[in-house]
Amino acid sequence: MNLTFLGTSAGSPTAQRNVSSMLLDLRQEQHGLWLFDCGESTQMQMQKAKFSLAKLEVIFLTHLHGDHLFGLPGVLTTRSLMQNQSPLTLIAPKGIKQFIETVIEISYSWLTYSLNIIELEQDRTVFEDERFRVEAKLLKHRVPCFGYRIIEKDLLAQLDIDKLKQDNIQVGSYYNDLKKGKTITLDDGRIIRAVDYQTKIKKGKKLAILGDTIPCQASITLASDVDLLVHEATQENALEDKAIERGHSTTVHAATIAKQANAKRLIMTHISPRYSLDDNNKLVNEARSVFANTEIATDFSTFTI
Ligand SMILES: [Zn+2]
Ligand SMILES: [Zn+2]
Repeated sequence: MNLTFLGTSAGSPTAQRNVSSMLLDLRQEQHGLWLFDCGESTQMQMQKAKFSLAKLEVIFLTHLHGDHLFGLPGVLTTRSLMQNQSPLTLIAPKGIKQFIETVIEISYSWLTYSLNIIELEQDRTVFEDERFRVEAKLLKHRVPCFGYRIIEKDLLAQLDIDKLKQDNIQVGSYYNDLKKGKTITLDDGRIIRAVDYQTKIKKGKKLAILGDTIPCQASITLASDVDLLVHEATQENALEDKAIERGHSTTVHAATIAKQANAKRLIMTHISPRYSLDDNNKLVNEARSVFANTEIATDFSTFTI
């Protein structure tokens, strides 16, 4: 799976960074595109990165501050112009339903596909199917703001049919027993251990995508042992007081959470407009002094998980 950052600026866009939005491409995992946050111009950023609105499957919003929300009306209504529409799920804190209904009504717009809205008020599992589970937890920001833990389930072992054929084993009526991992005795007396004919289990990936927050226990829980943590880093370390006062984190805060959670990799985003891309090295080095495997996102950067 690939994660592409469509916007990495905090609060307002700059000439170098658009506001918050990132896209998790799960098409190789038999899913669609999952969008996390939807700042202004997200549909434009999607076009530039060559992602189709029609392929959107779920939109997760961390919170309803404008820099994470104001791109949503455009994304939803333009999607109505696409061919081959599929249903879309929108998961966001309480209030999103009123926002969408109001925007649609006042602007004389409409949606031509089915939009399933899930409003969050507390910690809960927000998505589950055979392949993925997503859990949401309340973080600590100035308004209700959630972080998401995305868990790809382990792919269970399959029987290696070719190997069974090679060894001239007619599984027939034993198929289900072998699949369950049992040892069987064939009619000719041979004893067959399932473990010798199962393909390897593929471990699922885990990632945490957190919204705006000061450091908190919920962040550590969501990011526990993940392959990838996306954490905001609005300010540099020297501006810690300012960050906390406004409900945000610094580079060192993000790195400390990654370390405490035993995450494998950290990507920082939601960078204050006060910093230009020339400041990236300074910001990332601050974080690396605490957590070595840290990177800083720029618009259109893509990370493979
Ligand atoms: Zn923000
Ligand atoms: Zn915010």
